[in-house]
Amino acid sequence: MMPARRIVLALAGAFTCGCSEPPPPSSPPTVRRLTFESSSTDEVRQAQRIEMPAELGDWTVSSGKARIAEDEERADGTVGFQVALIGEGSKELLIPLEFDARPFHSATLTVTTPSTERMWLHLVRADGSVRTSPIASMEGSPAPQLVRFYMPRRRSGSEPFEELVIVAEGVSRYVILHSVEFSREPLTNWTFANDEGGGRMRVNNGARTAQLVGPSSTLRSRIEIGPGDELAFSLGIPEVFRNPKIGFATLRLVADGQGTARKEWSYPLEKLIAAPGWRSERVTLDDFPPGQLDIEFSLEAPQGVDLACLIAEGRIVARHANPPTVLLITSDTHRGDHLGAARSAVQVTTPVLDGLAARGLLFEDCFTSTNITNPSHVALMTAVHPRDTGVLTNNVPVAEAAPTLAEAFCGAGYRTFAVVSTRHLGDPTSGLGQGFDRMSWPGPSECDATQSIEKLASWLPDARGEPLFLWLHLFDAHIPYEPPSEFAERYYPPDRDPFDPSLAEPTMPPARVLHESLLGLKDPAYPAAMYRAEVSALDDALGDLLAAARLSDAIIGFTADHGESLGQHGIFFSHGDLYPDSIHVPLILAYPRAAGGTRMASPASQTDLGRTLLDLAGEEQADFPGRNLLSAAETGTAARVPRFALAGNATSASLTHNGWHLILHLRPHFEAPRLKGAEWHRVELYHLTEDPGSTVDLAELHHELARDLRARLVRWLISARDLGWAHEASADPKLLAELARLGYTDQHTPENGSELIDADCVCERCAAFR
Ligand SMILES: [Zn+2]
Ligand SMILES: [Zn+2]
Repeated sequence: MMPARRIVLALAGAFTCGCSEPPPPSSPPTVRRLTFESSSTDEVRQAQRIEMPAELGDWTVSSGKARIAEDEERADGTVGFQVALIGEGSKELLIPLEFDARPFHSATLTVTTPSTERMWLHLVRADGSVRTSPIASMEGSPAPQLVRFYMPRRRSGSEPFEELVIVAEGVSRYVILHSVEFSREPLTNWTFANDEGGGRMRVNNGARTAQLVGPSSTLRSRIEIGPGDELAFSLGIPEVFRNPKIGFATLRLVADGQGTARKEWSYPLEKLIAAPGWRSERVTLDDFPPGQLDIEFSLEAPQGVDLACLIAEGRIVARHANPPTVLLITSDTHRGDHLGAARSAVQVTTPVLDGLAARGLLFEDCFTSTNITNPSHVALMTAVHPRDTGVLTNNVPVAEAAPTLAEAFCGAGYRTFAVVSTRHLGDPTSGLGQGFDRMSWPGPSECDATQSIEKLASWLPDARGEPLFLWLHLFDAHIPYEPPSEFAERYYPPDRDPFDPSLAEPTMPPARVLHESLLGLKDPAYPAAMYRAEVSALDDALGDLLAAARLSDAIIGFTADHGESLGQHGIFFSHGDLYPDSIHVPLILAYPRAAGGTRMASPASQTDLGRTLLDLAGEEQADFPGRNLLSAAETGTAARVPRFALAGNATSASLTHNGWHLILHLRPHFEAPRLKGAEWHRVELYHLTEDPGSTVDLAELHHELARDLRARLVRWLISARDLGWAHEASADPKLLAELARLGYTDQHTPENGSELIDADCVCERCAAFR
């Protein structure tokens, strides 16, 4: 089904990144974004309908069974037929196509399904090649529903389709088909199918808020300019339009000063075919006197061909010598004690991060709100706890409705760029592209720090003279640990083979809990050494970035989304629970005028970092939740407030307060139970001050305290708010396979707080604490 937000987008015609309020004129330099009106003379919609037949004839049922019956009477009094596809699990209907389906963009099915069902389509050519639609998830309903499939576009010169295959799979015993309609729509409607939400369009693995310019649709904007202003934008060609004909197309930009001057620029699109991806452009407006300026983008292209390009980041830049820069770095899976400046017992060298701490503040006691990637980043970017965002797995994007840190910076007049290093944190799966002018994520294999930093650094010149908020996410410390050899050798002798079968090690973790990269491992010291090497490697890679002139006096926050268990608590090289291994993270804050080298001992909640960055940037008025970490430490409030965590998939919850750490297990765990049995509703209590590694469970010994803390934690759990921010989970099989490869096999999202825990549970373990 089409999400409602997409329909809204189409009606609005033009869109912004959600923060188009003009800034007050006297404020510090801000980016002035252009709002475009789109005018389109695209051809009207064409459609080709397939009615359900009175008998199957040459239609084939290749899976399940089919039954034909008379359909409901329609508004015009006619009665057609309906085909019921019957069968548990997979149901498949093959329909020979008697028309050329190539010019059509989408197929809409009228379907009745009594329960949840997933449907998709294949278009099959004579040579057997197949084009497959995205999967649509449907809820059960007694009434017919419309489900629209946007087909990936054809390459030019391809053969016609011979057959349409309709596939339904789910818990329904039957699915009723009433009709199928193929549609050709105005080119501008292409955005329907490719919008990642909020107008974000994808070119390669990069999303930007963009609008389409086609042969018959233009973009116009009117803006006030001043002396020295420049016009900047970026353009890209989505893959579906990268056909040979695009070589004849030219993007034209016209600036019209309404009688004072007129100027035209041409951008042949051929160049963008040779080097696909987004390209930044900037033109000076020195020929125009200050005042009103009309801007128009149009495309000159052969008629009747599906050609278009995207315009993003349209803005007027008043160049400033020293615009503010804010950089947020999240190092995935980075333990709080794996930092030289932390002065822990761990032998790991991080000279670059130590240098950052030396010119800023190091928070020694920072905890995250959860233990897995996307939920933690969503909490950091919204300053709302995962209990309330409802995002508790790595395949549930946060909805557009959630106000994000990027949107706050965008609203404050900043350019906003994000580079993440694993695909599941990319915009389609995380929803965190909102508010970012640009976001880039890798393909199926992760990027290392060097690659991601190179990408981010290459973008810096595009924001010269403009305030800039950057988010860099690094994935190096996450399993598989495969550091560059120069770092590996620092921590493990290069001539030693940790997989040597002749090595006998009595304390090896069971193979079933090890990542595939560690199967056959004989030396348990090896993965922990490689983990340290990954940390040193990412630290080294950060050196060049932090040395960039643009970042020399930037406001910089460095933290992690969660930590890692290196064999502690029966968890081997993963982060499957809420022990401090997994939720104690590094936090460094560097900014001009910081009292360099300060060590902050007071407790810090990582979700307060966003508010702190905004305040440090002078954006105290920006509407964004959270507590300022500096003032919370100063006033002592940080120590008074308990810190809560809720594990990914809602497997457990924890409360940390006054040096104590209590864990309440909520569900069977995906990993730990195979080793030590983290039973439902079991309580663990640790005294962090004396036992930072949480090795001695004191729940029995300090029963009263455990009872109080547990009651407090349960009260917190059942007061969960449903903000409606958890978007529909992705069921993309490729993504799920990637997540499984990284160790995320469970994808559980509870409906509400009472589903997290039954406060009146009568089980033995709960009764012991009543
Ligand atoms: Zn992570
Ligand atoms: Zn219980």
